[in-house]
Amino acid sequence: MSMTDRLDIPRFIPTSRLVLLRQVAALSAHLGLPAYLVGGFVRDALLKQPINDFDLVVEGDAVKLGRALVKQFGGRLTVHAPFKTATWFPLHRPERSRWSSSEAYRDQAQSKGDGDFIDLISARSETYEHPAALPTVKLGTLADDLRRRDFTINALAVRLDGDHFGELSDPLGGRADLQRGLVRVLHPNSFVDDPTRLLRAVRYAERYGFKIESGSEALIPLALEYVDKLSPERLRHELDLILGEENAVPMMEKLWASGIVRCVRPALPSEEAARKRFGATRRLPSSVEDPVQFRWMVWLMDATPAQFRALAKRLHFTADLAKKVAAAASIYNDLESFKGTRPSECAARLDGLPEEAIRAVSLCADEETRALLEMYLTKWKDVKPFADGDALQRMGVPFGPRIGETLWRLRAAWLDGEVTSEAGEREWLAGVLQDGYNRGDSKQ
Ligand code: ATP
Repeated sequence: MSMTDRLDIPRFIPTSRLVLLRQVAALSAHLGLPAYLVGGFVRDALLKQPINDFDLVVEGDAVKLGRALVKQFGGRLTVHAPFKTATWFPLHRPERSRWSSSEAYRDQAQSKGDGDFIDLISARSETYEHPAALPTVKLGTLADDLRRRDFTINALAVRLDGDHFGELSDPLGGRADLQRGLVRVLHPNSFVDDPTRLLRAVRYAERYGFKIESGSEALIPLALEYVDKLSPERLRHELDLILGEENAVPMMEKLWASGIVRCVRPALPSEEAARKRFGATRRLPSSVEDPVQFRWMVWLMDATPAQFRALAKRLHFTADLAKKVAAAASIYNDLESFKGTRPSECAARLDGLPEEAIRAVSLCADEETRALLEMYLTKWKDVKPFADGDALQRMGVPFGPRIGETLWRLRAAWLDGEVTSEAGEREWLAGVLQDGYNRGDSKQ
């Protein structure tokens, strides 16, 4: 492909970011530091897909460019030594007005969230001392920087500075592979060097409806033994990315089929059962706020407490995620016992548990228990008596545990249909208080 092929950058960038890019382009030209957008931006622009973000690579000292940007346009810079990378936080969010072509792409991109900072990375080369290690990094040229990448479709760049604005660089055949729909590694040792690429290959292939190129696919089995050498953060990060994708189900299917998941130690709970449950997350209920957490719960909800503790450690779960998965497992592993329970019994067991966990279990439950869980989520959890603690004190209940106990019993009476109106509630309370509500009855 000729180096003079150009990409119409403004078409793909939200206005606010384009203003910043123009500033970077002007200064990098002035300083004689070639600057490029690389990787996902170019790939998605060529595929006419919404743009997530962009990565900016400078051939030379990116920190020098960063300092010049602050001097000229204000804002602040954080510098990440020793690899000469920096993040520029411009002073103000520029006005949206100029460069307003291509509303559709721009708005799509904006809806995906554009930040108020730009990462400036000095072009580098990378080598791996042993499989799954973090790479050893040296400053290099754009060509080096593209060669260190995962796949040809990500080894594309578009130049920003001066008259070069929009020039495409494609030394490794990325554009041809985009056209053919192929995810291809750049060299035979790629998956062994960095086994996260196994997961990334599957993610891109399923996201775009591509195939993993046959030579690259043949390399997968050779790298499987290194998957478990990945650090918890890197492994979970890639799994999180997959679980957050619209096509997470076919992606996970592919990970299961190719044996990639099986390489994670300690072993995950039954693969067959997980695959069956996971299929139900193809279409997530609209109430799901966090697809990643939701899918983790669906995936792991049959783990035993010991299995789960080991996994949470291996994958470095956040406390919040660990709590939710543990809650989902506690419900799911005891699901049979919900059958035939009264609403108040059901509520007593579910109150205080994260709603997302109940929702995840509901998706995987049989009809009878799902009906109970859905009733809890849509109705029972919100059933509250008219009376509160103050009202009970006014009625003569002394301050202390009896208040909470009586309020719970009253809520249970509402839930089980023994109380159905405010007047009925007053009657119920009068009866209970007169009767000596404090006979040691338990919560249920
Ligand atoms: P998306 O965010 O849409 O998945 P992206 O291309 O922006 O795609 P990032 O994970 O942000 O993906 O990575 C940015 C770029 O860094 C990629 O395009 C790729 O060139 C490079 N990259 C990321 N991870 C690796 C890796 N493990 N090995 C080599 N290159 C990588």
